[in-house]
Amino acid sequence: MWPRLVLLDRDGVINADSPNYILSIEDFQPLPGSIEAIARLSTNAIDVAVCTNQSAVGRGFLSPDTLNAIHTEFTNQINRAGGQLVGIYACPHSPDAQCNCRKPAPGLCRQALLDRHVLPSDALFIGDSQRDLAAAAAAGIPAWLVRTGNGASIEATQPAHQPVFDDLASAVDALLAIELASEIVTGKFGTGTNNG
Ligand SMILES: [Mg+2]
Ligand SMILES: [Zn+2]
Repeated sequence: MWPRLVLLDRDGVINADSPNYILSIEDFQPLPGSIEAIARLSTNAIDVAVCTNQSAVGRGFLSPDTLNAIHTEFTNQINRAGGQLVGIYACPHSPDAQCNCRKPAPGLCRQALLDRHVLPSDALFIGDSQRDLAAAAAAGIPAWLVRTGNGASIEATQPAHQPVFDDLASAVDALLAIELASEIVTGKFGTGTNNG
């Protein structure tokens, strides 16, 4: 079944983005339905990881400890909804660090693929920004765009080269509909057999 692994951008996809960065647990405000959407992926046996640029660390606005605290709270919210994350990959570097993990570089995506032993074609990236789409493309991963965060302006200024959805919840709805359809086509659905 496809995909085995869904990689999500964080700000503007899972939680409301802010031009002033997300600097505290209080700043982390999930978008409607996003936490539940991640849980739906988990309960459908699709691994979920987050690949996020957090340059506020490298810029000196956010301590690594506070970023970890935000991600602990985020993880707890996912777990309470019945889901789980297999990883949170965060680039802490400022843009001038020229690292290979800050999107649009593919480092975060490639690390997630390596850790999960997943081929690029068996993964899907869902993001709201051009640099998400570019990072996914550089790693060979198909990408979907959501209209939350920067997504609506990306869609308006560029021809769509990828599927576009209103938000993460509707993207996950579409993804799980594809999964169900493929199970019907392959005969796995409702046959009473299970060949894994
Ligand atoms: Mg974003
Ligand atoms: Zn980096």
